[in-house]
Amino acid sequence: MIVRAELQCYFCGHDLGEVKIPTPARQPTAEQLRAAYLATGRSEQPVWDREADRPLCPRCRGQLALALEIVRRPERVAARQVSARG
Ligand SMILES: [Zn+2]
Repeated sequence: MIVRAELQCYFCGHDLGEVKIPTPARQPTAEQLRAAYLATGRSEQPVWDREADRPLCPRCRGQLALALEIVRRPERVAARQVSARG
């Protein structure tokens, strides 16, 4: 499935934007999250706390809130359209 993830700072409210992560689990791993933000090519990236293995706010180094939403697979929608036509 594809999970939409969004990071926002608890402390200063800074929004790092959202990314889409293909993952077999409901919750992406910290590594998948890091890779997804890197893949956006945005100049502003979450600061990675290597010890705790979690992202931190690039502005205030505060803890980030992670919002997750499961995105429906686009293949399923396409398959339904094909069967409706036939
Ligand atoms: Zn912050």
